Amino acid sequence: MVHVVVVVDAMLGTLAKRLRLAGVDVIYGRSMGDEELLTFLEGRDVFCENGPGGVCTRLLFSRDRGLVAEGQSRGLTCFLAPSGDLDSTWEWAVGVIKWAVGRETEKVRGMDKGGGAEMEIFSPGTRCSRCNSLLDDVPPHLFRGSVPDNVAVGSWGGGLWRCPTCGRFYWAGTHWDDMKRYLAGL
Ligand SMILES: [Zn+2]
Repeated sequence: MVHVVVVVDAMLGTLAKRLRLAGVDVIYGRSMGDEELLTFLEGRDVFCENGPGGVCTRLLFSRDRGLVAEGQSRGLTCFLAPSGDLDSTWEWAVGVIKWAVGRETEKVRGMDKGGGAEMEIFSPGTRCSRCNSLLDDVPPHLFRGSVPDNVAVGSWGGGLWRCPTCGRFYWAGTHWDDMKRYLAGL
């Protein structure tokens, strides 16, 4: 399996949020300097969620030509994001991620080269859009008062997830429906 980490620079914050809603592991480098971003991309021995034996690949999406050129000169996988609205940037980003997964998958003998890797990357509703943590599945009735009543009493019919880091709640609704549509359309 291939685990992709996308590092997104300060100019692409809304893209970062949408990618996280799609389940992509995104480092939003708003508070990181250029050198810090590149050092992170070079990292090989940092914790990878996919665990030992998996493949972890790191990509940079940026609108800064100088930064992308510097990263590429160091052999890092850096991409200049196109200017344009969120939908077109998103479409571009998903295409690049699929390409990167395909490339890594090819490198590993005996791995599934089909949709399995793709499923692993795009899993809407698994990650906090605010802080990137993986969400916990929690019993809705324990959070009465913190979430809308129809979610808490279960009449909603869907589940409830909570971010263990920042405490934000998520339930299947407009955001995730939108996300499934975004992904289905590509
Ligand atoms: Zn969070």
